[in-house]
Amino acid sequence: MATVLVRNGRVVTASESVLADLFVDGEKVALVGQGLSLPADTVIDASGCLVLPGGVDAHTHLDMPAGPLPSADDFEPGTRAAAFGGTTTVVDFATPAPGESLLAALETWRRKAESKAAVDYGFHMALRGLGGATLAEMAHLVRDEGVTSFKLYLAYPGVLQVDDATFFRALLGARECGALTQVHAENGGVIDVLVRRALARGETAPRYHALTRPPETEAEATARAISMATLAGAPLYVVHLSCAAALAHVTAARDRGLPVHAETCPQYLFLSIADYDRPGFDGARYVMSPPLRDTADQEALWRGLAGGDLEVVATDHCPFTLADKARGRHDFSKIPQGAPGIETRMMLLWDGGVRAGRIDAPRFVELTAAAPARLFGLWPRKGTIAVGSDADLVVWDPERETRFSAETLHMRVDYSPYEGRVVHGGPVFVLSRGEVVVDHGEWKGRPGRGQFLKRAPGPARP
Ligand SMILES: [Zn+2]
Repeated sequence: MATVLVRNGRVVTASESVLADLFVDGEKVALVGQGLSLPADTVIDASGCLVLPGGVDAHTHLDMPAGPLPSADDFEPGTRAAAFGGTTTVVDFATPAPGESLLAALETWRRKAESKAAVDYGFHMALRGLGGATLAEMAHLVRDEGVTSFKLYLAYPGVLQVDDATFFRALLGARECGALTQVHAENGGVIDVLVRRALARGETAPRYHALTRPPETEAEATARAISMATLAGAPLYVVHLSCAAALAHVTAARDRGLPVHAETCPQYLFLSIADYDRPGFDGARYVMSPPLRDTADQEALWRGLAGGDLEVVATDHCPFTLADKARGRHDFSKIPQGAPGIETRMMLLWDGGVRAGRIDAPRFVELTAAAPARLFGLWPRKGTIAVGSDADLVVWDPERETRFSAETLHMRVDYSPYEGRVVHGGPVFVLSRGEVVVDHGEWKGRPGRGQFLKRAPGPARP
């Protein structure tokens, strides 16, 4: 078993920030203390740097079929890019094909990942419906397979959208087996009407993607999901929350003590509805759902992150190439929805959050690693630095400068939504279970070394 000594860094967890050395024995953190001087196979000098727990990205779509197209990243480039950005755990969405059993879908996703993933991974399970065997399958996944969260969509009618009865029965079922229910909260029926009316008026450009999914459609679905979760006595996790109006419902629920949790994503903090008006067809690069919002929404999200009502920053990483995006050149509703983000999450949040004085370093760790690990049953193996935790570590240089460009980022997609943006703060070394996988921008990992993570039922049960 190889050993690693990380010396002279400032170790930051969600609860503290202390100067300390770390001794890694094999895959685990074995000692944390000052002035450690044990012999080790590898010694890393972290002077002037922070030592953070590896990031946990709780929302990715690698190798995800979206109609006729798969998302551009599969588990090999996707998890490599994650590691380059300091993320050492991803929780991806297994999505059954229509009529496919949940167990078969899990098997499909495990096969997609097992020979390719370079960092550890787990799966949430999407539910398209709640047929006869589904409740029993949910219980089996939670008990025996380590899949402890289920996602339902209140958008995309005819594709993934479920009706209220199905959503409510899923909440009851999830409560029964100790699972956490995740919701994509947009009102798909209303959006469908708005989209048809826009297209009938000849409004086909990318900007109409945003104008046909206004904040009210997200706020309404968020409020409805919270009400149903409250009736079911079940915890709820709202994915990719994008606007002030939806956040207000989450805040009100949390003020009542309800177990309602929410994540946002960097695109909703750093990009805005103005990006849809970029010249030519460039607005298509920003087509995702929910869409980008106003700058006032960004400010509300930052307040939510600082104040605690937003608990997680994940990515919704789901890239499509420009050629794929061009399918919607004459009809915004045919633009594949999604954008790259798995690599840039932590650098953006450090630069725009910590350096800008909106959040401190422990809060950064909480949002990027600790909270997703706790909510999704990976704590304390992931999300913190402690004796016995996995040695998923990031030696983070708070001043390291990166200019984002599709040319130099590692995601398999030919554009970056942040092209040309300069950020400060980024990883120098990244370790996954004690192994250096990134060293000063050089790749040292290998596909297939990532392990499937069986997750525990989270602590979010009321
Ligand atoms: Zn998503």
